[in-house]
Amino acid sequence: MHMKILRIAVPTPLRQYFDYLPLENAAEQACAVGVRVRVPFQRRELIGIVMGHTLTADVAPERLKTVLEVLDTEPVLSGDVLQLCLWAADYYHDAIGEIVANALPVLLRQGKPCQPGRTKKRIEEIPAFDPALQLNLNPEQQVAVAQVQAALDVFQVFLLDGVTGSGKTEVYLQVIQAVLQAGKQVLVLVPEIGLTPQTIQRFRARFATSVLALHSGLTERERLNAWIAAKSGQAQIIIGTRSAVFTPLPHLGLIIVDEEHDLSFKQQDGFRYHARDMAIMRAHLNKIPIVLGSATPALETMFNAQQGKFRYVCLPHRAGNALLPTFHVVDIRNQTLEQGLSPTLLQMMQEHLARDEQVMLFLNRRGYAPVLLCHACGWMVDCKRCDMRMTYHKSTARLHCHHCEMQKKIPVVCEACGEKTLQAVGVGTERLEDVLKKYFPKHSIARIDRDNTQRKGSMEKLLTNIQAGLHHILIGTQMLAKGHHFPNVTLVAIVDADGGFFSSDFRAFERMGQLLLQVAGRAGRVNKPGKVVMQTHHPDHPLLFQLFNDRYQQFASTLLQERAAACLPPYAHIALVRAEAFEDKHVLAFLTEAKTLMQAAGFSLQILGPVPAPMPRRAGRYRAQLLLQAKQRAHLQQFLKQVLPDIEKIPSKHRVRWSLDVDPVEMF
Ligand code: ADP
Ligand code: ZN
Ligand code: ZN
Repeated sequence: MHMKILRIAVPTPLRQYFDYLPLENAAEQACAVGVRVRVPFQRRELIGIVMGHTLTADVAPERLKTVLEVLDTEPVLSGDVLQLCLWAADYYHDAIGEIVANALPVLLRQGKPCQPGRTKKRIEEIPAFDPALQLNLNPEQQVAVAQVQAALDVFQVFLLDGVTGSGKTEVYLQVIQAVLQAGKQVLVLVPEIGLTPQTIQRFRARFATSVLALHSGLTERERLNAWIAAKSGQAQIIIGTRSAVFTPLPHLGLIIVDEEHDLSFKQQDGFRYHARDMAIMRAHLNKIPIVLGSATPALETMFNAQQGKFRYVCLPHRAGNALLPTFHVVDIRNQTLEQGLSPTLLQMMQEHLARDEQVMLFLNRRGYAPVLLCHACGWMVDCKRCDMRMTYHKSTARLHCHHCEMQKKIPVVCEACGEKTLQAVGVGTERLEDVLKKYFPKHSIARIDRDNTQRKGSMEKLLTNIQAGLHHILIGTQMLAKGHHFPNVTLVAIVDADGGFFSSDFRAFERMGQLLLQVAGRAGRVNKPGKVVMQTHHPDHPLLFQLFNDRYQQFASTLLQERAAACLPPYAHIALVRAEAFEDKHVLAFLTEAKTLMQAAGFSLQILGPVPAPMPRRAGRYRAQLLLQAKQRAHLQQFLKQVLPDIEKIPSKHRVRWSLDVDPVEMF
């Protein structure tokens, strides 16, 4: 009898498969690729996925253990999703066992049967399907729709570069229509902040078919039911955030990634994948088109379009007759500010409010004040575990660290000199609200930040009230920057536009530009064009000028030239090796050893570091990193493949937490 050995992906951080013997008398198909099995692993039992069969094991035959139980009669992971996982394991150099586990709903990871189960009935308002909602496309939209429709049976990446309000969503909807008519399924990926009830309703109202939303409000049972509906082909449209890219879809015909530049598509811990890039690979595997949409595409995406790898489709105008907002820079050098607000801005607010229009102030800093400072000696309250300033929150009357969970009481006296001279310095959203109440006592103010929207439904309630005109002044952090459209907002002010000028991250300018244009996109409607005001100490900065006068494309090509000159992505390919530990000598020892191994590998690529991370300590752990930089992607990949097994063997790795991040989007 020939012995068949099962090659299993087991959820451990080890970058390898594990071999097991099948159950005796198990029917052949019972151990098909993609089926879950329960296996003994060290002293535990884990649930793995069959990835293949082999006749020769990696270990001696007498050491092979036997599978304990086969959990499925048919594969839970389809061929294309398995292939996607294999590609990711190879590209991100991560453990295949964790990647395939990541691709499954939690209940399946826990070994629950792959069957729909009962859920508490929830009243979901399903708007009536209304084909009359379909708009007549303008000529630019028609071109966009026609281009994608002409490529429905081939792999092709489209970049839909359309200013905010240009009708990108209408383009998606009409392309989707064509795909549904062909009997196929559509996957729509949106940023975390973009999966709002409004977005879901807009899709539900348009199609007489089931639209599944994979949002964070689902219970694990509801999530599994949704997953099964997608896998069976019963659900035709699936809208979800990052992890929805792994949804099994037997008739997948189109993928859409909305706001493709958004940071939330990149997973920042554990398996560090980029959902947009995975989506492109999935489209490639399935030989279908994918549309990346944004008003402010990532520079990497712009570059790929310039190179002809992606097909570029542009919607340069707002849809209908709506005008783009006008931009105004307010020079605040030498101006007396009232808690961050210039007289010019206060005056403009007055004018817009007097006309019964809404005003939106954008400040990306929650809390009351970012610093508590001693006026006598200069001492400031730091988080003991992060070496970062603690933020004063008036609502809780406490100091909060925004980098770890740490909170503390507000000290009465300075801990350095003992004087009662502590002052709140700087302005956060809470403080802005306070000062505006004083200036505009007759107007209702709504504040939208993380502190204010944590309770379930509170965000929706705020948004509904804003749409209904109950609030006149809106204050928000970046939560307010995306996805929503407030037609009666005619003035948007960026209270502090200087942040991007100081950051050490080479992507800071790109981020700043994206944020400014996204914020600007919240305002204005047909008969009332919006006005965007920006307060800055750098009113003459050439990049700001380009952003507001020549629009994003020019801004992006200037930044791309700078990246080329500095040999930074997309003109180079980078990876970060991060390490952290409670003692900094352990971090340094591990990274130094890793670097020595890397240098010995004999590749000509840049290895920079070890250097402290931009945030050198977080939650008590010291953090440092090595930056790897190569001209060719393939070169970096080969290098990583060669050196990682050696790095895994470094004895001092047990004293640190370390990780590899291929194509990092944030350097912290
Ligand atoms: P985007 O997704 O690019 O921000 P939307 O698709 O949300 O833009 O469209 C912005 C606004 O313009 C919406 O109110 C939408 O109803 C309207 N709109 C879109 N396309 C058209 C069109 N062809 N004619 C008239 N109005 C349109
Ligand atoms: Zn002091
Ligand atoms: Zn902290």
